[in-house]
Amino acid sequence: MTPRLRLQPEAVGMGMTSQRVRDRLVDRLRESGIRNENVLNAIRVVPRHLFVDEALATRAYEDTALPIGHSQTISQPWVVARMTEALLETAPKKVLEIGTGSGYQAAVLAVLGLEVHTVERIGDLLRQARKRLRQLGMNVRSKHDDGRIGWPEHGPYDGILVTAAAPALVHALIDQLAVGGSLIAPVGGPASQSLVRLSKRDDGSVHEETLAPVVFVPLLSGTLD
Ligand code: SAH
Repeated sequence: MTPRLRLQPEAVGMGMTSQRVRDRLVDRLRESGIRNENVLNAIRVVPRHLFVDEALATRAYEDTALPIGHSQTISQPWVVARMTEALLETAPKKVLEIGTGSGYQAAVLAVLGLEVHTVERIGDLLRQARKRLRQLGMNVRSKHDDGRIGWPEHGPYDGILVTAAAPALVHALIDQLAVGGSLIAPVGGPASQSLVRLSKRDDGSVHEETLAPVVFVPLLSGTLD
C-alpha cells in the first residue's frame, strides 16, 4: 500500500513528533492486539500531531484521547486502529464517518485508499479539519450537518463509522449501509459504552456483535456554527 501523503516539513516532525516516536506508538498498538498491517501503516504515516493544538503536539503519539476544543476529543489511537481494522474486514470501498472532529480518523481512512465521506455537527471543528486534510493533500468529502441523518445522497456505504456514542444504533445509518457492509459504533451512555459492529447480510438481515468497551463523547442533535 502506498500512502497518498504530501509530506511537508511540519508533517515529518521532530523530537516528540518524530518518526521514531510514531513507530513506538505503532509497536504499542501491535502489542495491544492490532493485527492489520495496513492499519498500522496508516497510523505510522498520518501525522497525528497536526490534528491537535500545537500545545498538545508533544503528546500526539501517546495512546490517549486529547482535547480538540468545543468539549470534543480526538479519539485514542488504539480505538481508531480497532475501529478501522473492524471496518476493513468486509473490504469496503466507500465509507461514511459520523463525527469528523479533528479529521484524524478520516485521514487514516483516506490513506488506506477508501472513498471517505464525513459529517460533523460543529462548523468550527469541520473548518479546521478540512484545512488540515487539504494541506495534507487528502481527498475527503465532508458536510456540516447532524450526522444522525447520515448522508443519504451518496449512500449506500460499504462501511460506516460513528465516532460519538448514542444509547442505541441509529436507524437512518443502518438504512444507508450496503448489503455486505458493516457499521461500527459506540453504543451506551456516559457511564458505560461498548463498541458494536452491525453487519448487513446478503438476505438483508443484520447481525450485531460487541467488540470492546470504549469511552466516546456523546452523539448530539442539531448543528452549531
Ligand atoms: N473522529 C474524530 C473524533 C471526534 S469526537 C477524530 O478523529 O478526531 C466526536 C465528534 O463527533 C465531535 O467532533 C462531535 O462534534 C461530533 N458529533 C457529535 N454528535 C454528532 C452528530 N449528531 N453529527 C455529526 N457529528 C457529531
